[in-house]
Amino acid sequence: MKYWNPYLETLPREELNKIELSYFRTILSYAKEHSILYQEKLKNIDPDAIRTFADIRKVPLTDKEELRRYQEMDPYPYGGILGGKIEEVTTFRQTSGTTGKPVYVPETYESWQWRIEAWCHILYMAGFRPHHRVFLPFGYNVYVAFWEGHYASEKLGCELVPGGALDTKGRIHKIIETRANAMMNTPTYGLHIAEEAKNMGIDPASFGIERMLCAGEPMPSSTRKRLEELFHCHVFDHIGGTEPCGWAGMCEAKDGMHVIEPFFLVEILDRETLQKEVDEGEMGVAVVTPLGRRSFPLIRFNTKDLVVKGKEICSCGRTSKKIQEVVGRTDDLRKIRGVLFSPKTVEELVREKFPEIVEYEIVVERRGLMDVIMLRAEVETHLPIDSIEQTRVRLQEMLKIKTNLSFHVIIEPPGSLPRYTLKAKRFKDLREGPT
Ligand SMILES: [Zn+2]
Repeated sequence: MKYWNPYLETLPREELNKIELSYFRTILSYAKEHSILYQEKLKNIDPDAIRTFADIRKVPLTDKEELRRYQEMDPYPYGGILGGKIEEVTTFRQTSGTTGKPVYVPETYESWQWRIEAWCHILYMAGFRPHHRVFLPFGYNVYVAFWEGHYASEKLGCELVPGGALDTKGRIHKIIETRANAMMNTPTYGLHIAEEAKNMGIDPASFGIERMLCAGEPMPSSTRKRLEELFHCHVFDHIGGTEPCGWAGMCEAKDGMHVIEPFFLVEILDRETLQKEVDEGEMGVAVVTPLGRRSFPLIRFNTKDLVVKGKEICSCGRTSKKIQEVVGRTDDLRKIRGVLFSPKTVEELVREKFPEIVEYEIVVERRGLMDVIMLRAEVETHLPIDSIEQTRVRLQEMLKIKTNLSFHVIIEPPGSLPRYTLKAKRFKDLREGPT
């Protein structure tokens, strides 16, 4: 079968719009009745008056700061973001909290199953099927994405091998031992497994992995292709977050990502005003409303993910809206010497043109009145000195062309840069004061 849900995935646009408007009204009424956050926030909004997509724009956005503020109330630890009774909560998860206090996510059994179903769409689109033995190389702890992947794999009929409590070498041995033929991981960790396997004298292509779904970080297509070459498999991307759930995934066409409709209403709004929807091919901020989840209702959640709006037609036959590309987080965009800079541009270049670079880090500092941008790169162990210097010069030149910024490129000794197991932090802005 081509689709996980043949009916929903091929519904005509007008039908999807009708369903989503109706679901939006329902979740709005529910949130207004059951969550303290939305009782206050929506007091001047009448859900029944929302008849068009233009009406939806009158409903205020929700951001992470509000969630943090409202969860300070009773009942602990969810406070005013809870959309039901605390006794009904069966699953505790939280955001990673790398940029402040974590948001605690309450799920009832019903709402957790809703998340799993949305994830089944993502995995099935990426070609995961019952014959796959899926290796998941993490201890997932309280973080949501891999738990969703875990349960959704099971629901699809795959066989799931949890790879927590092992180091990378141990995981490589486990992949070989179990003959796992599918994986879910962050792009960073996929590259790390490949590097470690090579160090052990094992070609990662020999694992026999057929499908890999990546999560957790924006993945340029050059990184995706590099993973495909290294593992000799098909690599798929998806986008989501702890609060809204995974809301779009890549199909076999590997040309952008499908929004999981009608599970989510996704708006791509103009970055400056957050008012109007951008046109196809333009970049905007993704604003997401999970339409069927009650225990933690979220209305027009500002994900702060910058994405490019895609075409509404795909060779796979699905009729859902598409995201052409994930650019990064609005927080990651910086002004450096007056130039708007996205760290993803550097990753794109490094993964596409410099396979000899195994790890890198971007550091921005202020020296006197000047911003200085450096790229510290680590190359493969056995590279001759001449080639190292060539890499350094070529990288410096190409970075200038790609970003309009003059980088200082420094080649570091093997093993000197940190390796990441979940999300990488390759961008460090050490400037103080306004940028
Ligand atoms: Zn498609």
